[in-house]
Amino acid sequence: MLDIKSKKPLIISGPCSAETAEQTIQTAQQLAQSGMVDVFRAGVWKPRTKPGMFEGVGIPALPWLVEVKKSTGLPVAIEVANAKHVESALAFGIDMFWIGARTTSNPFSVQEIAEALKGVDIPVLVKNPMNADVELWNGAVERLAKCGVKQLGLIHRGFSGYGSSQYRNTPMWHLAIEIMKRLPELPIFCDPSHICGNTEHLFEISQRAADLNFNGLMLESHITPQKAWSDARQQLAPQDLINMLRAVVWRAEGSDSVAYQHSLDELRGVIDRLDNEIFNLLGKRMEAAENIGRIKRENNVMILQTNRWNQVVERVLARSEELGLSREFLNVLLEAIHLESINKQNNILNQDL
Ligand code: PEP
Ligand code: MN
Repeated sequence: MLDIKSKKPLIISGPCSAETAEQTIQTAQQLAQSGMVDVFRAGVWKPRTKPGMFEGVGIPALPWLVEVKKSTGLPVAIEVANAKHVESALAFGIDMFWIGARTTSNPFSVQEIAEALKGVDIPVLVKNPMNADVELWNGAVERLAKCGVKQLGLIHRGFSGYGSSQYRNTPMWHLAIEIMKRLPELPIFCDPSHICGNTEHLFEISQRAADLNFNGLMLESHITPQKAWSDARQQLAPQDLINMLRAVVWRAEGSDSVAYQHSLDELRGVIDRLDNEIFNLLGKRMEAAENIGRIKRENNVMILQTNRWNQVVERVLARSEELGLSREFLNVLLEAIHLESINKQNNILNQDL
Protein backbone atom coordinates (compact mmCIF):
# COMPACT_ATOMS: atom_id res chain seq x y z
CA MET A 1 0.00 0.00 0.00
CA LEU A 2 1.19 3.53 -0.79
CA ASP A 3 2.63 5.26 2.28
CA ILE A 4 2.44 9.03 1.83
CA LYS A 5 4.85 9.68 4.68
CA SER A 6 7.53 7.34 3.38
CA LYS A 7 9.26 9.98 1.27
CA LYS A 8 9.81 13.71 1.60
CA PRO A 9 9.32 15.46 -0.71
CA LEU A 10 6.63 13.25 -2.22
CA ILE A 11 5.87 14.45 -5.74
CA ILE A 12 2.43 13.84 -7.24
CA SER A 13 2.03 14.79 -10.88
CA GLY A 14 -0.07 14.17 -13.94
CA PRO A 15 -2.65 15.90 -16.11
CA CYS A 16 -5.55 17.93 -14.79
CA SER A 17 -7.80 15.45 -16.64
CA ALA A 18 -7.36 12.04 -18.19
CA GLU A 19 -8.53 12.84 -21.74
CA THR A 20 -7.47 9.90 -23.88
CA ALA A 21 -5.57 6.68 -23.25
CA GLU A 22 -2.55 8.01 -25.22
CA GLN A 23 -2.42 11.37 -23.49
CA THR A 24 -2.71 9.75 -20.06
CA ILE A 25 -0.20 6.97 -20.63
CA GLN A 26 2.36 9.07 -22.48
CA THR A 27 2.30 11.78 -19.82
CA ALA A 28 2.75 9.14 -17.14
CA GLN A 29 5.63 7.45 -18.96
CA GLN A 30 7.56 10.69 -19.43
CA LEU A 31 7.05 11.68 -15.82
CA ALA A 32 8.05 8.23 -14.59
CA GLN A 33 11.23 8.17 -16.70
CA SER A 34 12.60 11.16 -14.79
CA GLY A 35 12.48 9.25 -11.52
CA MET A 36 11.30 12.50 -9.89
CA VAL A 37 7.60 11.65 -9.62
CA ASP A 38 6.24 9.31 -6.94
CA VAL A 39 2.50 9.26 -7.64
CA PHE A 40 0.60 9.80 -10.90
CA ARG A 41 -2.52 11.97 -10.71
CA ALA A 42 -5.34 12.46 -13.22
CA GLY A 43 -8.84 13.87 -12.94
CA VAL A 44 -11.49 11.41 -14.10
CA TRP A 45 -14.58 13.30 -12.92
CA LYS A 46 -14.09 17.05 -13.25
CA PRO A 47 -16.12 19.60 -11.28
CA ARG A 48 -16.49 22.44 -13.79
CA THR A 49 -17.81 25.93 -13.16
CA LYS A 50 -20.32 25.90 -16.02
CA PRO A 51 -22.31 23.15 -17.71
CA GLY A 52 -21.25 22.14 -21.17
CA MET A 53 -17.54 22.19 -20.35
CA PHE A 54 -15.50 18.98 -20.44
CA GLU A 55 -16.54 17.13 -17.28
CA GLY A 56 -14.11 14.24 -17.43
CA VAL A 57 -14.26 10.89 -19.16
CA GLY A 58 -15.50 9.07 -16.05
CA ILE A 59 -15.35 5.30 -15.63
CA PRO A 60 -13.86 4.57 -19.12
CA ALA A 61 -10.71 6.45 -18.00
CA LEU A 62 -10.08 4.12 -15.08
CA PRO A 63 -8.55 1.28 -17.19
CA TRP A 64 -6.04 3.85 -18.55
CA LEU A 65 -4.85 4.39 -15.00
CA VAL A 66 -4.56 0.64 -14.53
CA GLU A 67 -2.34 0.67 -17.62
CA VAL A 68 -0.27 3.54 -16.19
CA LYS A 69 0.34 1.47 -13.05
CA LYS A 70 1.34 -1.53 -15.09
CA SER A 71 3.66 0.25 -17.48
CA THR A 72 5.32 2.72 -15.08
CA GLY A 73 5.00 1.13 -11.66
CA LEU A 74 3.67 4.44 -10.31
CA PRO A 75 0.75 4.41 -7.87
CA VAL A 76 -2.23 6.35 -9.23
CA ALA A 77 -4.47 8.96 -7.62
CA ILE A 78 -7.78 10.51 -8.65
CA GLU A 79 -10.29 13.00 -7.28
CA VAL A 80 -13.50 11.59 -5.80
CA ALA A 81 -16.58 13.69 -5.16
CA ASN A 82 -19.22 11.13 -4.19
CA ALA A 83 -19.68 7.53 -3.02
CA LYS A 84 -20.11 6.21 -6.56
CA HIS A 85 -16.75 7.60 -7.59
CA VAL A 86 -15.18 5.86 -4.59
CA GLU A 87 -16.78 2.50 -5.41
CA SER A 88 -15.89 2.61 -9.12
CA ALA A 89 -12.31 3.68 -8.45
CA LEU A 90 -11.78 0.99 -5.81
CA ALA A 91 -12.95 -1.66 -8.25
CA PHE A 92 -10.07 -0.62 -10.53
CA GLY A 93 -7.46 -0.62 -7.76
CA ILE A 94 -6.80 3.14 -7.65
CA ASP A 95 -4.14 3.72 -4.96
CA MET A 96 -5.01 7.12 -3.55
CA PHE A 97 -7.89 9.61 -3.55
CA TRP A 98 -8.06 13.32 -3.08
CA ILE A 99 -11.11 15.38 -2.27
CA GLY A 100 -11.37 18.50 -4.41
CA ALA A 101 -11.78 22.03 -3.09
CA ARG A 102 -15.43 22.29 -4.13
CA THR A 103 -16.26 19.00 -2.42
CA THR A 104 -14.45 19.87 0.83
CA SER A 105 -16.77 22.88 1.02
CA ASN A 106 -19.79 20.55 1.21
CA PRO A 107 -20.13 18.53 4.44
CA PHE A 108 -22.85 16.28 2.93
CA SER A 109 -20.52 15.16 0.15
CA VAL A 110 -17.58 14.68 2.49
CA GLN A 111 -19.72 12.59 4.85
CA GLU A 112 -20.94 10.43 1.96
CA ILE A 113 -17.36 9.84 0.78
CA ALA A 114 -16.18 9.11 4.33
CA GLU A 115 -18.87 6.47 4.74
CA ALA A 116 -18.02 4.87 1.40
CA LEU A 117 -14.42 4.62 2.63
CA LYS A 118 -15.21 2.63 5.78
CA GLY A 119 -12.87 -0.35 5.96
CA VAL A 120 -10.81 0.90 2.98
CA ASP A 121 -7.14 1.38 3.69
CA ILE A 122 -5.78 3.81 1.11
CA PRO A 123 -4.49 7.37 1.57
CA VAL A 124 -6.95 10.24 1.18
CA LEU A 125 -5.78 13.82 0.71
CA VAL A 126 -8.16 16.65 1.53
CA LYS A 127 -7.83 19.86 -0.44
CA ASN A 128 -8.65 23.09 1.33
CA PRO A 129 -12.18 24.38 0.65
CA MET A 130 -12.66 27.13 -1.95
CA ASN A 131 -13.24 29.71 0.77
CA ALA A 132 -10.79 30.72 3.47
CA ASP A 133 -12.32 28.53 6.18
CA VAL A 134 -9.86 26.42 8.16
CA GLU A 135 -12.69 24.97 10.30
CA LEU A 136 -14.36 23.50 7.23
CA TRP A 137 -11.05 22.02 6.07
CA ASN A 138 -10.43 20.56 9.51
CA GLY A 139 -14.06 19.34 9.67
CA ALA A 140 -13.66 17.35 6.44
CA VAL A 141 -10.56 15.66 7.88
CA GLU A 142 -12.48 14.83 11.07
CA ARG A 143 -15.34 13.24 9.10
CA LEU A 144 -12.88 10.94 7.30
CA ALA A 145 -10.98 10.11 10.48
CA LYS A 146 -14.25 9.24 12.25
CA CYS A 147 -15.02 6.71 9.51
CA GLY A 148 -11.66 5.05 10.09
CA VAL A 149 -9.56 6.51 7.25
CA LYS A 150 -6.05 6.14 8.64
CA GLN A 151 -3.76 7.67 6.07
CA LEU A 152 -4.96 11.22 5.83
CA GLY A 153 -3.17 14.17 4.29
CA LEU A 154 -3.87 17.76 3.24
CA ILE A 155 -3.49 19.67 0.01
CA HIS A 156 -3.11 23.44 0.03
CA ARG A 157 -4.43 24.74 -3.33
CA GLY A 158 -5.14 28.35 -2.44
CA PHE A 159 -8.46 30.15 -1.84
CA SER A 160 -10.73 31.73 -4.39
CA GLY A 161 -11.35 35.45 -4.25
CA TYR A 162 -13.18 38.11 -6.17
CA GLY A 163 -11.55 40.26 -8.82
CA SER A 164 -8.20 40.00 -10.47
CA SER A 165 -5.08 38.95 -8.66
CA GLN A 166 -1.67 37.61 -9.54
CA TYR A 167 -2.97 34.17 -8.55
CA ARG A 168 -5.93 32.09 -9.64
CA ASN A 169 -6.37 31.13 -5.97
CA THR A 170 -4.65 33.27 -3.35
CA PRO A 171 -2.21 31.19 -1.33
CA MET A 172 -2.96 32.76 2.08
CA TRP A 173 -0.01 30.86 3.52
CA HIS A 174 -1.07 31.69 7.07
CA LEU A 175 -4.08 29.37 6.67
CA ALA A 176 -1.85 26.50 5.59
CA ILE A 177 0.35 27.23 8.61
CA GLU A 178 -2.75 27.30 10.83
CA ILE A 179 -3.90 23.83 9.66
CA MET A 180 -0.34 22.51 10.14
CA LYS A 181 -0.47 23.75 13.74
CA ARG A 182 -3.84 22.09 14.30
CA LEU A 183 -3.03 18.80 12.58
CA PRO A 184 0.73 18.40 13.03
CA GLU A 185 0.64 14.66 12.34
CA LEU A 186 -0.84 15.05 8.87
CA PRO A 187 1.43 15.41 5.86
CA ILE A 188 0.59 18.48 3.80
CA PHE A 189 1.19 18.92 0.08
CA CYS A 190 1.09 22.11 -1.94
CA ASP A 191 -0.68 22.34 -5.29
CA PRO A 192 1.07 25.25 -7.03
CA SER A 193 -0.82 24.58 -10.30
CA HIS A 194 -4.21 25.56 -8.89
CA ILE A 195 -2.76 28.40 -6.82
CA CYS A 196 -1.09 29.95 -9.89
CA GLY A 197 -3.53 29.26 -12.71
CA ASN A 198 -0.58 29.76 -15.08
CA THR A 199 2.95 28.42 -15.33
CA GLU A 200 4.75 31.66 -14.54
CA HIS A 201 4.92 31.44 -10.76
CA LEU A 202 4.99 27.65 -10.30
CA PHE A 203 8.62 27.63 -9.23
CA GLU A 204 8.22 30.46 -6.74
CA ILE A 205 5.20 28.77 -5.09
CA SER A 206 6.89 25.36 -5.07
CA GLN A 207 10.00 26.84 -3.45
CA ARG A 208 7.87 28.63 -0.85
CA ALA A 209 6.15 25.34 0.02
CA ALA A 210 9.54 23.63 0.33
CA ASP A 211 10.70 26.38 2.70
CA LEU A 212 7.53 26.06 4.79
CA ASN A 213 8.21 22.38 5.46
CA PHE A 214 5.51 20.96 3.20
CA ASN A 215 5.77 17.19 2.65
CA GLY A 216 5.62 17.48 -1.11
CA LEU A 217 3.90 18.91 -4.15
CA MET A 218 1.02 18.10 -6.47
CA LEU A 219 1.62 19.60 -9.90
CA GLU A 220 -0.25 19.28 -13.17
CA SER A 221 1.57 18.06 -16.26
CA HIS A 222 0.25 17.37 -19.74
CA ILE A 223 1.95 15.91 -22.77
CA THR A 224 0.75 18.87 -24.89
CA PRO A 225 -0.35 21.53 -22.37
CA GLN A 226 -1.65 24.01 -24.94
CA LYS A 227 -4.13 21.37 -26.15
CA ALA A 228 -5.37 20.34 -22.69
CA TRP A 229 -9.14 20.01 -22.29
CA SER A 230 -9.03 21.58 -18.83
CA ASP A 231 -6.62 23.94 -17.06
CA ALA A 232 -4.48 24.37 -20.19
CA ARG A 233 -2.77 27.54 -18.95
CA GLN A 234 -1.35 26.04 -15.78
CA GLN A 235 0.06 22.75 -17.08
CA LEU A 236 3.68 22.10 -18.01
CA ALA A 237 4.97 19.46 -20.42
CA PRO A 238 6.62 16.62 -18.44
CA GLN A 239 10.18 17.69 -19.27
CA ASP A 240 9.51 21.33 -18.34
CA LEU A 241 7.94 20.21 -15.10
CA ILE A 242 10.92 18.03 -14.27
CA ASN A 243 13.32 20.91 -14.97
CA MET A 244 11.29 23.14 -12.70
CA LEU A 245 11.24 20.49 -9.96
CA ARG A 246 14.99 20.00 -10.16
CA ALA A 247 15.49 23.69 -9.40
CA VAL A 248 13.48 23.55 -6.15
CA VAL A 249 15.75 23.38 -3.10
CA TRP A 250 14.49 21.21 -0.23
CA ARG A 251 16.40 22.40 2.81
CA ALA A 252 17.00 20.49 6.04
CA GLU A 253 14.57 20.78 8.96
CA GLY A 254 17.43 21.56 11.32
CA SER A 255 21.19 21.32 11.67
CA ASP A 256 23.49 19.60 14.18
CA SER A 257 26.25 22.14 13.55
CA VAL A 258 27.38 23.54 16.91
CA ALA A 259 28.17 26.93 15.40
CA TYR A 260 24.69 27.07 13.86
CA GLN A 261 23.03 26.11 17.17
CA HIS A 262 25.09 28.71 19.02
CA SER A 263 24.24 31.56 16.65
CA LEU A 264 20.61 30.48 16.56
CA ASP A 265 20.32 30.52 20.37
CA GLU A 266 21.95 33.92 20.52
CA LEU A 267 19.68 35.43 17.86
CA ARG A 268 16.59 33.86 19.41
CA GLY A 269 17.62 35.51 22.70
CA VAL A 270 17.68 38.86 20.87
CA ILE A 271 14.19 38.16 19.49
CA ASP A 272 12.85 37.28 22.96
CA ARG A 273 14.28 40.48 24.49
CA LEU A 274 12.87 42.59 21.66
CA ASP A 275 9.47 40.90 22.00
CA ASN A 276 9.49 41.84 25.69
CA GLU A 277 10.16 45.46 24.81
CA ILE A 278 7.58 45.54 22.02
CA PHE A 279 4.82 44.06 24.17
CA ASN A 280 5.67 46.17 27.23
CA LEU A 281 5.34 49.21 25.00
CA LEU A 282 2.12 47.96 23.45
CA GLY A 283 0.69 47.50 26.94
CA LYS A 284 1.62 51.11 27.76
CA ARG A 285 0.11 52.30 24.50
CA MET A 286 -3.16 50.58 25.41
CA GLU A 287 -3.09 52.23 28.85
CA ALA A 288 -2.77 55.62 27.13
CA ALA A 289 -5.74 54.70 24.90
CA GLU A 290 -7.73 53.76 28.01
CA ASN A 291 -6.90 57.12 29.59
CA ILE A 292 -8.22 58.81 26.47
CA GLY A 293 -11.33 56.61 26.86
CA ARG A 294 -11.79 58.01 30.39
CA ILE A 295 -11.71 61.64 29.28
CA LYS A 296 -13.99 60.84 26.32
CA ARG A 297 -16.44 59.36 28.81
CA GLU A 298 -16.26 62.43 31.08
CA ASN A 299 -16.86 64.71 28.11
CA ASN A 300 -19.43 62.46 26.44
CA VAL A 301 -17.41 62.16 23.22
CA MET A 302 -17.67 59.17 20.88
CA ILE A 303 -14.87 56.64 20.39
CA LEU A 304 -14.11 56.64 16.67
CA GLN A 305 -12.26 59.70 15.44
CA THR A 306 -11.39 58.89 11.85
CA ASN A 307 -9.37 62.05 11.19
CA ARG A 308 -7.10 61.40 14.11
CA TRP A 309 -6.69 57.75 13.16
CA ASN A 310 -5.81 58.65 9.58
CA GLN A 311 -3.11 60.98 10.94
CA VAL A 312 -1.70 58.18 13.12
CA VAL A 313 -1.55 55.83 10.14
CA GLU A 314 -0.01 58.44 7.81
CA ARG A 315 2.66 59.34 10.36
CA VAL A 316 3.74 55.72 10.73
CA LEU A 317 3.48 54.83 7.03
CA ALA A 318 5.67 57.81 6.14
CA ARG A 319 8.44 56.08 8.12
CA SER A 320 7.97 52.73 6.34
CA GLU A 321 11.28 52.90 4.44
CA GLU A 322 13.32 54.21 7.36
CA LEU A 323 11.91 51.42 9.57
CA GLY A 324 12.51 48.74 6.94
CA LEU A 325 8.88 47.61 7.33
CA SER A 326 6.50 47.26 4.37
CA ARG A 327 3.43 49.47 4.19
CA GLU A 328 1.36 46.31 3.90
CA PHE A 329 2.70 44.96 7.21
CA LEU A 330 2.35 48.33 8.94
CA ASN A 331 -1.27 48.59 7.80
CA VAL A 332 -2.15 45.16 9.20
CA LEU A 333 -0.39 45.90 12.50
CA LEU A 334 -1.94 49.35 12.88
CA GLU A 335 -5.39 47.97 12.17
CA ALA A 336 -4.99 45.35 14.91
CA ILE A 337 -3.75 48.00 17.36
CA HIS A 338 -6.62 50.32 16.46
CA LEU A 339 -9.24 47.62 16.92
CA GLU A 340 -7.86 46.73 20.34
CA SER A 341 -7.79 50.43 21.38
CA ILE A 342 -11.42 50.74 20.31
CA ASN A 343 -12.33 47.64 22.35
CA LYS A 344 -10.54 49.02 25.41
CA GLN A 345 -12.29 52.39 25.07
CA ASN A 346 -15.61 50.68 24.45
CA ASN A 347 -15.24 48.82 27.76
CA ILE A 348 -14.58 52.09 29.56
CA LEU A 349 -17.33 54.12 27.90
CA ASN A 350 -19.98 51.44 28.27
CA GLN A 351 -18.91 49.66 31.46
CA ASP A 352 -22.12 50.32 33.35
CA LEU A 353 -24.68 50.53 30.58
C1 PEP B 1 -7.74 19.37 -9.77
O1 PEP B 1 -6.89 18.95 -8.97
O2 PEP B 1 -7.67 19.21 -10.99
C2 PEP B 1 -8.85 20.19 -9.24
C3 PEP B 1 -10.05 20.20 -9.79
O3 PEP B 1 -8.46 20.91 -8.22
P1 PEP B 1 -9.26 21.83 -7.15
O4 PEP B 1 -10.22 20.94 -6.45
O5 PEP B 1 -8.12 22.27 -6.28
O6 PEP B 1 -9.87 22.95 -7.91
MN1 MN C 1 -6.91 21.11 -12.69
